[in-house]
Amino acid sequence: MIKSLLLFLAPVAAWTADYDILIRNARVVDGTGNAWFRADVGVKDGKIALVGRAGGATAGRTIDAREHIVAPGFIDVHTHIESTVEKVPRGDNYLLDGVTTVVTGNCGGSQMNLGEWFDKIEKLGLGLNVASLIGHNTVRSEVMGTANRLATPDEIAKMQALVDRAMRDGAVGFSTGLIYIPGTYSNTAEVVALAKPAAAHGGIYTSHMRDEGEHVIEAITEAVTVGKENGMPVELSHFKIDNRRLWGSSDQSLALVEKFRREGVDVVVDQYPYDQSSTNLGIRLPSWALAEGKVKERLADPGLRRKIAEEMMRNLADLGQPDYSFATVARFRPNTAYEGKTISEINVLKGRAQTVANEIETIFDLMNDGGAQMIYHSMGEVDVERIMRYPFTAVGSDGGIIEFGVGMPHPRAYGTNARVLGEYVRVRGVLTLEDAVRRMTSLPARTFGLRDRGLVRENMAADLVLFDPARVADRATFANPHQYSQGFEVVLVNGKIVVDDAKLTDARPGQALRHSR
Ligand SMILES: [Zn+2]
Ligand SMILES: [Zn+2]
Repeated sequence: MIKSLLLFLAPVAAWTADYDILIRNARVVDGTGNAWFRADVGVKDGKIALVGRAGGATAGRTIDAREHIVAPGFIDVHTHIESTVEKVPRGDNYLLDGVTTVVTGNCGGSQMNLGEWFDKIEKLGLGLNVASLIGHNTVRSEVMGTANRLATPDEIAKMQALVDRAMRDGAVGFSTGLIYIPGTYSNTAEVVALAKPAAAHGGIYTSHMRDEGEHVIEAITEAVTVGKENGMPVELSHFKIDNRRLWGSSDQSLALVEKFRREGVDVVVDQYPYDQSSTNLGIRLPSWALAEGKVKERLADPGLRRKIAEEMMRNLADLGQPDYSFATVARFRPNTAYEGKTISEINVLKGRAQTVANEIETIFDLMNDGGAQMIYHSMGEVDVERIMRYPFTAVGSDGGIIEFGVGMPHPRAYGTNARVLGEYVRVRGVLTLEDAVRRMTSLPARTFGLRDRGLVRENMAADLVLFDPARVADRATFANPHQYSQGFEVVLVNGKIVVDDAKLTDARPGQALRHSR
């Protein structure tokens, strides 16, 4: 009798409670960058309903924070989730790194039909919130394929119409990846023209710039030109110096960003906290060699093959790299035994002598087998730290949703936020805790127009993380990437608990965040 009465009363108690969830005894790092303060945080109907003293208030679920940190859920504005969100719609690696919202479609690559895609992924049951940019390479491929030439006025108009449709479907802005095929074949005028409809809908321009080394100053200037011409904000993606000969020169590139800001350009940057990058193998080849998908045909032509190899030799020297030992295979489906090995190591495995010319032959072999996803040790730690200290650098992983255990991905998809909070805040003291959280929350929310997220404030969406500042740490490494971060005890998305006692729950409260003016 007593048991059945309790069962009957339990839902009634929740129904009449003051809050759905009440986190007591927290130290709140509210996302503004201000010093932490003690408070209780109450959540009701998906929103933050209280930041203050809860007193005798009741809740469906009460969590004792034990003086750990409550912060806004992290907003990762630089992700690439298109290829895996349908396999892992919960977004496990992100939730366990404290991320509650991702912006995808970066570096020029997005879904073409965002309206359909948003509907589709919402039906799958998202663990986290998803916003998207519309990608330049996506619309250019749609209209022009991978043609190595400038666009005609008619093609520009067609591409503008696609950008306009994507913005109406809820894109947060327009992204470019100007080292990739086919965006690399465009000129600045094309990018300015295609960003225009995004600006008209209040969108942002984000850019994986044409160059991140020798010509980074020109590349920053080009990106800022797009923003200035269209009167739109600019985010420079994964800001870095990726040329070994130029390590340490980020003082100059940051000074240029700051100069533009003083002149009234709204330009900020994002960064992942690692000295290694990750992208495809094809970027090592001259871009003309990849046009129209005919790389194999060109490699089969002895004259062109020699020409490609010669350009690669020069590019390698320009990068200040003695050989391809800085390049590690992350994912190579035809032979997973190569994953985790450098091009130099694979070259030796193939029985070839250790010369740059032979390593280029090894790269050609991999390209003939469809290419590979790579990790490049291309940055210096001096620049990583200096860029991180710049006040308007947001934290963004440049990672994707990961299928646990598949390939040897860059650890950034698992550990970006925990690494900033552990390694760069607690261990090295590069940032204060409050400033680091600001760069994960209110700074990206401001830039991408996510007006009801990024702060622990009443009436904001209840995206929250509870973590232990003494324990939070990344565990994913280059050698052993498939390891979730530690220290995130509770994560809420839209007022629902997605991580409880440091473990994923079955809740799928994520939403597609469709941008509206
Ligand atoms: Zn990129
Ligand atoms: Zn990217």
